[in-house]
Amino acid sequence: MASNLMKVVASSVAIAGKAGNAIRLIMKSGDLGVIDKAVKDGNFDPQTAADRTAQAIIVASLSKQFPDLLIVGEEEGCDAVSEEMLVEDPDKDVLKQNCPDNFKNLKLSDLVVWVDPLDGTKEFTEGHVEHVTVLIGISAHGKAIAGVVHQPFFSNEGRTIWGVVGLGAFGVSATVSPPGRRIITTTKSHMTDNVQQTIDAMKPDKVLRTGGCGYKVLQVIEGIADAYVFATPGTKKWDTCAPEAVLIAMGGMLTDIRNERIDYSKTAPKYFMNWTGILGTASEHDSYASKIPESIRESLKMKFDEKTK
Ligand code: AMP
Ligand code: MG
Ligand code: MG
Repeated sequence: MASNLMKVVASSVAIAGKAGNAIRLIMKSGDLGVIDKAVKDGNFDPQTAADRTAQAIIVASLSKQFPDLLIVGEEEGCDAVSEEMLVEDPDKDVLKQNCPDNFKNLKLSDLVVWVDPLDGTKEFTEGHVEHVTVLIGISAHGKAIAGVVHQPFFSNEGRTIWGVVGLGAFGVSATVSPPGRRIITTTKSHMTDNVQQTIDAMKPDKVLRTGGCGYKVLQVIEGIADAYVFATPGTKKWDTCAPEAVLIAMGGMLTDIRNERIDYSKTAPKYFMNWTGILGTASEHDSYASKIPESIRESLKMKFDEKTK
């Protein structure tokens, strides 16, 4: 009998694929239905019909299968989807895997599901579709423990990667990079002085600038980059939960810029933001963390205290 966790992961894998199909169809239609979510603060933050439809599919399908599950989704203003858009069946291959012992007795009420229906929206609207991922992350008792990262535009059918901490990750192979190499991947669209200063302090061999949290973590997993550095607020819990769980399941690490694990236990909106930035690595995590300037660590901690008091 599958555990509650494995049932939710198996359903999420099937649902992410369906959301990916919807995203591809909307891109093909040419009508992205872009609106600006950040009219108040003046920074353009796009939401498209693909973000709205993908979230509606994910939330309605999960809620139908697990009515009491707590789901936190990025988007507001999602229309209801028709019955035929809903996913009813879990992925059977996921259900063949054994749940790690420490998660076997988790109740559905112990879980929080963090949904970013389309990560990399800005790049999606610019045609960089390879940066787009669908993210469904699962946390329990404050920690990211499982995640699904689906790439709708990876070849024709898309690709789904999933993982559970302590079990491993599926759908991707880790590539070990040469020791000592420092290729850093970071934001393409949300650069700040703090991010640049932190990257400079790490003396990288090369810096890659791409869209989306999911995509950058996959670059780290696949050995295209060695570290993902973002020393500023900007990413939210739904950006990090799924990629973090997959990266840790494969032996890597993802923390904030102070080298502390991200806390997923609080679900009030002021905690959605990762105020203290993110650092993701395939290996040598502490070495990267030790190079982060103290002034940046402190300024981010002050920001967290100010915004969550
Ligand atoms: P990026 O690396 O810039 O693609 O950001 C990764 C994720 O964090 C995406 O979902 C972005 O939308 C989000 N994000 C990062 N910085 C910001 C920001 N300044 N404003 C809004 N969203 C952001
Ligand atoms: Mg996102
Ligand atoms: Mg998104």
